Amino acid sequence: MTEELDSAIRRLLQNAHSVVIVSHIRPDADAVGSLLGLGLPLLAAGKQVQMVLQDGMPEKYSFLPGADRVTRSIESGYDTLITVDCSEPERTGQLLEGLGAPDLVIDHHQTNPNFGKLNIVVPEASATAFVLANQLPRWGLSVDADTAQCLLAGILGDTIGFRTSSTDAQTLRAAADLMEKGADLSLVYRQVLLSRSISELRYWGQGLIKTQYEDNILWTVLTLDDRIKAVYPENDDADLVNLLSSVSGPFVVVLFVQQAPDRVKVSWRSIEGIDVSSIASTFGGGGHAAAAGADVTGSLQEVIAKVLEKTKNVLVGR
Ligand code: AMP
Ligand code: MN
Ligand code: MN
Repeated sequence: MTEELDSAIRRLLQNAHSVVIVSHIRPDADAVGSLLGLGLPLLAAGKQVQMVLQDGMPEKYSFLPGADRVTRSIESGYDTLITVDCSEPERTGQLLEGLGAPDLVIDHHQTNPNFGKLNIVVPEASATAFVLANQLPRWGLSVDADTAQCLLAGILGDTIGFRTSSTDAQTLRAAADLMEKGADLSLVYRQVLLSRSISELRYWGQGLIKTQYEDNILWTVLTLDDRIKAVYPENDDADLVNLLSSVSGPFVVVLFVQQAPDRVKVSWRSIEGIDVSSIASTFGGGGHAAAAGADVTGSLQEVIAKVLEKTKNVLVGR
């Protein structure tokens, strides 16, 4: 990180009185952990802070300190707008519509076009929470036990418990440092990665029985109906995609999660050497080489056909 960028961010945060922080729809642990992991130190520094998620705080992460402060819409009167873990403005849902460029974008997606006035985008970082763990002290903000807990949740979520190829020695050092500051690894690990509800299990079941394997692609679907049958309260995939990507053999895993009759969330996961973020980009999405996503308009059948065709084309000759 350049000194210049660091001091510009430090100035921005020091001069801020009322800060809005937003993260992405269908929030994951890194979205939530980064939101709280920046919001809590700003509150401690005496700022007014709105922490906003259009989809609200998932029940699963309500154990995190400050979770009950998260709201679902932005109230006017703020002076500083920040996004965390968002590769593009649309990832926030409709929150940024009509607001202009955020003052600061903090992210780790290689597809991020740097849509903020200031941008700290670190594609090699294992999580946005890892970027924050490194940068907060340089920006004059201190990391207390609550903040450390939130940041560790973000790192554990995006590295799936330190097992992705993005997990490097620096990430482990940052995690150790957060533990020394008071984060409870075993609690966070259990809450973020191990604990499952019966609903999640039933929802997985709906997807698992429909799993198909063709041309080195393992794929399945979660419909709106599956969600109702499983009484699953969120609109995400309950991490089914990570379960599918633990299957050995497939080059690519694709999961289709119906969001509305004409809208489908697509998730890709790939083995080393296959960049699925480029496929996601052609559908208006983005992400990382090994894990990418897109929100695609069309019926489930249309989206499945288009996405599988594009994905197969990328795998031709492998
Ligand atoms: P997911 O499949 O939702 O777990 O997301 C995998 C990666 O792709 C994450 O890094 C997301 O930030 C990114 N991603 C997911 N959905 C989208 C989208 N609609 N647009 C851009 N990036 C996305
Ligand atoms: Mn995320
Ligand atoms: Mn992330």
